[in-house]
Amino acid sequence: MLLCTVRDCRQPLLREARRLVCAAGHSFDLARSGYANLLQPQDRRSKQPGDTVAAVAGRRRLHDRGVSDPLFRVILDLAAADPTDSVLDAGCGDGYYLGNLAQQTGCNAHGVDISIPAIDAASRRYPNVEWIVANADRFVPYEDRAFSLVMSITARMNSPEFRRVLRENGRLLVAIPAPDDLIEFRGTGRDRVTRTVETFAAEFDLAAQRRATTTADLDAAGVDDVLHSIYRPMQAAKHDAARVTFSLDLLLFRAR
Ligand SMILES: [Zn+2]
Repeated sequence: MLLCTVRDCRQPLLREARRLVCAAGHSFDLARSGYANLLQPQDRRSKQPGDTVAAVAGRRRLHDRGVSDPLFRVILDLAAADPTDSVLDAGCGDGYYLGNLAQQTGCNAHGVDISIPAIDAASRRYPNVEWIVANADRFVPYEDRAFSLVMSITARMNSPEFRRVLRENGRLLVAIPAPDDLIEFRGTGRDRVTRTVETFAAEFDLAAQRRATTTADLDAAGVDDVLHSIYRPMQAAKHDAARVTFSLDLLLFRAR
């Protein structure tokens, strides 16, 4: 159900031993850890788009400290996935949420991110998920109605493409930073809920809404990881240990 990302091709990609190939002969090598890089030259604004190695590593160390577990449990509950679900995480980062969702629910899981370091980390940690490097801002490289659930966890949103790859009555789970997310570093942020609902209003109805909030007492290294993961390394030197708030607004939509 993967589609070729060569401009205007969009034919199905078939899996061979070490590569994916379409009927027009475009081929994409599989990395040793199993992911495929479908990025095209027009998809890159920089040589290394998306999260850097340092940001991915910082975020993974925070996940490994367990700081994201309370957020994951709310996502798990709201997603209500089961083994019959086919799930896409668009902008999956290092795969923490999708990888754990797949492990706990047995769903058929697919993750896309524009960052090679993020997908490389995801594919090494969670080999039972299909991981793809691609720019989902323009084109989500899957066939129509491939999924029963699409997730966008603090990622870019592409309402028409999310709707295209969802089945009738499919679910869309969107997580956005809540106003108190990282309030210790950023102050009170904007409430993004109304605008996000409007973003999806043409194709989706809001079915449920929750806020997931947790705090973690982090040592200086943990604070450093937070600041690297949000690209504020210059602030890291100014901080010692701190209590840090992580907070997400979660919106569950139904495809119309
Ligand atoms: Zn092709």
